[in-house]
Amino acid sequence: MPLVSWHVLLLMPSSPEMLKGKRVIVTGASSGIGEQMAYHLAQMGSHLLITARTEAKLQKVVARCLELGAASAQHVSGSMEDTAFAEHVVKEAEELLGGLDMLILNHIGSSYFHYFDGDVGHVRKLLETNFLSYVAMTVSALPMLKESGGSIVVVSSMAGKVGFPFTVPYSATKFALDGFFSSLRQEFALQNTNISITLCILGFINTDSAMKAAADVVLIPPAPKEECALEIIKGGALRQREVYYKYATIKFSLLLRDWAADLLDYLIRREYNLENLEKK
Ligand code: NDP
Repeated sequence: MPLVSWHVLLLMPSSPEMLKGKRVIVTGASSGIGEQMAYHLAQMGSHLLITARTEAKLQKVVARCLELGAASAQHVSGSMEDTAFAEHVVKEAEELLGGLDMLILNHIGSSYFHYFDGDVGHVRKLLETNFLSYVAMTVSALPMLKESGGSIVVVSSMAGKVGFPFTVPYSATKFALDGFFSSLRQEFALQNTNISITLCILGFINTDSAMKAAADVVLIPPAPKEECALEIIKGGALRQREVYYKYATIKFSLLLRDWAADLLDYLIRREYNLENLEKK
């Protein structure tokens, strides 16, 4: 990806205009950050294809997207544990939208928030859902994205850059995303492939599932999912290499990781209420 200075970014059209009429897939859009991304994109006038497992929730999100001004909104339901379903979603986009400008990979399978329990089967299953389905969708979408000069947006986590306790299987899948997509970005640059890859590094966000899993254990205040969703979309539209939300906290932590990893590990361990963890 060419280096773009902040002066140039400031002169570019804003992300709402940039996404008007664009054809976008959002995965994991029945709740949380994915749902909020669907609403922002709808307000920007995009064509949407959203996906998750729960049909009834997707129908509600589609209805709301149409109210908010989406150029079109459709859904396809199924589980990303199955890579055939991941490929099917991309085929649906080809048929329903006639192409693709942005692929937003956001879904995650459920995992536990506790000490690693040694269940290798669970790690394998989570890798299928959180990692391999991302790979399968990307591979299937490449012809359409090449045609449009489009973007891939990958939603990851601080737990995909730094070791956090109590999310061992999840963290493994997020580190895998960084390896795959950062390496692929290099190959795109070498081959002059005009597809941007934006990796999104998020801290603790106030989605229902995250709050339920960790609110009483994690001492850091969560950031709002609506603003987080908008930052992800902006980063994708501007073809940024990585998005950090919230920027200052994440950037500072990543600097510490590279210069004082033991100190960062120590500071992270202090951010948990272990008594509450034991009650879970
Ligand atoms: P949610 O749990 O709110 O949403 C997860 C979405 O994935 C839902 O739409 C869910 O819908 C879908 N999903 C779950 N299992 C499957 C499956 N097997 N196949 C297909 N879809 C599935 O998550 P968040 O909004 O909190 O997280 C969104 C992204 O942000 C994730 O990538 C997460 O790692 C990242 N992130 C979140 C943080 C947070 O604190 N919230 C922190 C750091 C990163 P359904 O159940 O209907 O299938």
